[in-house]
Amino acid sequence: MEHNTRFNIWYVLAAIWGVVLLQDLIFDQLRPQIIPYSEFIDALTRDKIEEISISNDRITGKMKGENDSEILFTTVRVDTDLSKVLAEHKVEFSGRLENTFLNSLLSWMIPIFFFFGVWYLLMRRMQGGQAGIMNFGKNKAKIIGEKDISTRFSDVAGADEAKEELKEIVDYLAHPEAYLEVGGQMPKGVLLVGPPGTGKTLIARAVAGEAGVPFFSISGSDFVEMFVGMGAARVRDLFVQAREKAPCIIFIDELDAIGKARGAGGMVGGHDEREQTLNQLLVEMDGFDSKKGIVIMAATNRPEVLDPALLRSGRFDRQVLIDRPDLAGRRAILEIHAAKVKLEDDVDLEVVAQKTAGFSGADLANAVNEAALLAVRNGRKKVSNKDLDEAVDRIIGGLEKKNRVINPAEKKIVAYHEVGHALVAALTEGSEPVHKISIIPRGLAALGYTQQRPTEDRYLMSRSELLAKIDVLLGGRVAEEIMFGSVTTGAGNDLMRATDIARAMIVEYGMGKTLGLSTYPRQRSPVFLQSDGGIAGGKDYSDETAALIDQETKQILEQRNLHVHRMLEEKKNTLVAIAEKLLEKEVLFGTEFMDMVKA
Ligand code: ADP
Ligand code: MG
Ligand code: ZN
Repeated sequence: MEHNTRFNIWYVLAAIWGVVLLQDLIFDQLRPQIIPYSEFIDALTRDKIEEISISNDRITGKMKGENDSEILFTTVRVDTDLSKVLAEHKVEFSGRLENTFLNSLLSWMIPIFFFFGVWYLLMRRMQGGQAGIMNFGKNKAKIIGEKDISTRFSDVAGADEAKEELKEIVDYLAHPEAYLEVGGQMPKGVLLVGPPGTGKTLIARAVAGEAGVPFFSISGSDFVEMFVGMGAARVRDLFVQAREKAPCIIFIDELDAIGKARGAGGMVGGHDEREQTLNQLLVEMDGFDSKKGIVIMAATNRPEVLDPALLRSGRFDRQVLIDRPDLAGRRAILEIHAAKVKLEDDVDLEVVAQKTAGFSGADLANAVNEAALLAVRNGRKKVSNKDLDEAVDRIIGGLEKKNRVINPAEKKIVAYHEVGHALVAALTEGSEPVHKISIIPRGLAALGYTQQRPTEDRYLMSRSELLAKIDVLLGGRVAEEIMFGSVTTGAGNDLMRATDIARAMIVEYGMGKTLGLSTYPRQRSPVFLQSDGGIAGGKDYSDETAALIDQETKQILEQRNLHVHRMLEEKKNTLVAIAEKLLEKEVLFGTEFMDMVKA
């Protein structure tokens, strides 16, 4: 949903209506009562009239009402010779020039000013109180330039891989000349990818702090509500400023807000602004020379929506993953934040770390802070175990709604499932080596994952390699079956992918018995015609053939399942040992894992 604060006809209509209403309200009070001339004369003879002013055709004035109240009145003048009577009754009177023009002008102007005032205040509020009405939107996406950043890598815990990858950038920014001399080409753009609160902003600042260079930051979400053209101008500004201060870092937070794939998503008509901004960013990135010592960093938690053009070489071609911290990482983060508060001696951060699987760095910082507040509220001088417990429970309550915490029983199942995948991969020839196994929840779908990293680029796969892939996919489910005697819904996606591969072997690669060498490659319609990413178009073989294909697919899967079952049953001890280790550490890397497989 994109907000649109541009001129809107409904606002105008509402304002006009409001003006009319208000005008009525205000001037009702001041408006004199219209009375018949006879009543005026009557009041005059009874000495009720206090003062009047007379114009050509009208008499306006004050008269006494009941219990000394004053009534404003006006009446249409009938006889022309009043002054004598007036003098007789000692009424103060004056002649008056009609100036209804000024009157009515004022009666319109005041409400209009009032409305503009209110509107202006609202606008200011919406813009964080920065912009005046004349330079509307101009300061919206604020470029924040900071010189001496005090954040260091030591302030970021539990992101060792990311830090390692970023050290090179730090080194380059600190000594661009050295790199220039050798002629090395530095990356222009580094994209930090990871869930919210994992310290992306923090680590970007730490890079600037470590290198001792200025840090220019701007947030993508600030661009959303801007007038057309403003966003692009801001981006231009940003690069102009950065070029003056090079070497430096430009940091674009929430890149997805401007970097969404062009022509996809959003509302019709709402995108031109974002598109212009994005185009300008691409132009600027292409236009500058990385030798100047400017590195652009950006952060996103939704890399999948980014426009592919952003990820092309010469732009954000380097990506650094920052995941939620594992046990050791959480412990280290807790230590950083706990150092800022006073802790009771009995507090064991290790225990807190164990209880907080699925927490991001920000969640942990939040927990420590919350605990400190609780301590203060309870009149204590130091944070106790109980405070921390309560704070963690509160945050868990919030996270459970987002499915980011799993209970211990589920955690165990996930651990065995993942190790099942990994172990089959390790034991199967032609399978890609395991890079990382993790049971840190990643969001709604995946509770854990096993990452395999190909040793080389593969374009051709043999039958045995495809079967190995199927085996690995089945490994998770089989491990659950062996250990717990039942399977969970967690394996659904694995099965789907295994089935896909088995089918493809028969239908596309001519590796099955049913079709032999005749293949029926799936026809995929162009991406933009697919609503669900599924396969469009019908099959071009008979129903009998389809039944045969289904049967053979099933056969392959059953065969492989049996095979995997035997394999894991035989290595059950290893499976248990590794799974228990994983439960303890939450993340296992390739080498650690292989050491245990060989042990
Ligand atoms: P992101 O930009 O990824 O959403 P932030 O960098 O804004 O996350 O993190 C918010 C806060 O959470 C940080 O200011 C810091 O206090 C805390 N935090 C997050 N990750 C870490 C970490 N790895 N080490 C220490 N503190 C962290
Ligand atoms: Mg951030
Ligand atoms: Zn799985």
